[in-house]
Amino acid sequence: MVMRLVTRAQLGWPVSSAPLQATTKGVKVHYTGSAVSTALLKDHSLCLALWQDIREAHLANVQENYSDVAYNYAACVHGYVLEGRGIGRRTGANGSQTLNKAHYAVLGLIGNSGVTEPTDELLNAIRDATEHLQTHGAGTEIKGHKDGHATSCPGGPLYAWVQKGAPRPTTEEDDMPTTAEIADAVARKLIAGGGVLENSDVDRIAKAVAARPATLTDAQVQALATNPTLAEAIAEKVAAKLAARLAN
Ligand SMILES: [Zn+2]
Ligand SMILES: [Zn+2]
Repeated sequence: MVMRLVTRAQLGWPVSSAPLQATTKGVKVHYTGSAVSTALLKDHSLCLALWQDIREAHLANVQENYSDVAYNYAACVHGYVLEGRGIGRRTGANGSQTLNKAHYAVLGLIGNSGVTEPTDELLNAIRDATEHLQTHGAGTEIKGHKDGHATSCPGGPLYAWVQKGAPRPTTEEDDMPTTAEIADAVARKLIAGGGVLENSDVDRIAKAVAARPATLTDAQVQALATNPTLAEAIAEKVAAKLAARLAN
């Protein structure tokens, strides 16, 4: 997959004046540490607005005296990588000059209330930004802000992901049971429930529960065994859902 990058030029920002540095041991992952509105989930322009706000807040921070937004990149819930200081610039986000020299900083645009869980797209975008930095000299380490510095950042969900080695999410298809597994699970339920099955019923029900077998209650399975019309109705709904998923 190709990284979907929003450049500084596209954000209307000048070239970063942050200090240059040739390389790091890897990246540290961050979150905003504040509320991120759930409205952002359905409106990518709010991600760009939040990234602008973060840069303005950093430039206005007299105590830290930032020359630019502190992070090298941000990753949004829609899978976009938003350029910050970029490649070859020292971050200001890791907690001390020593820590800033050791790792780049990538911000996940989620917070401690509102949007608190990373989407698969956001995790992929963090990986995209990280691998982009790695192809330009960064080392392989992926850590959290709290590694080596007292902070809650990057929050529970992102830190748990970092500790697992920051894997790219598996696609939904990989988690889906096969048609044979579904047919088998439903047949077992039906037999356990004393239902009678024709071959045509097995096919129909397998299609009907192409979602997950666990979503059917025992009562529903009993009803399916004795009510072909109901099975037919469910089959139609599931077929429509599958068609929608394939179209995605
Ligand atoms: Zn942080
Ligand atoms: Zn977005």
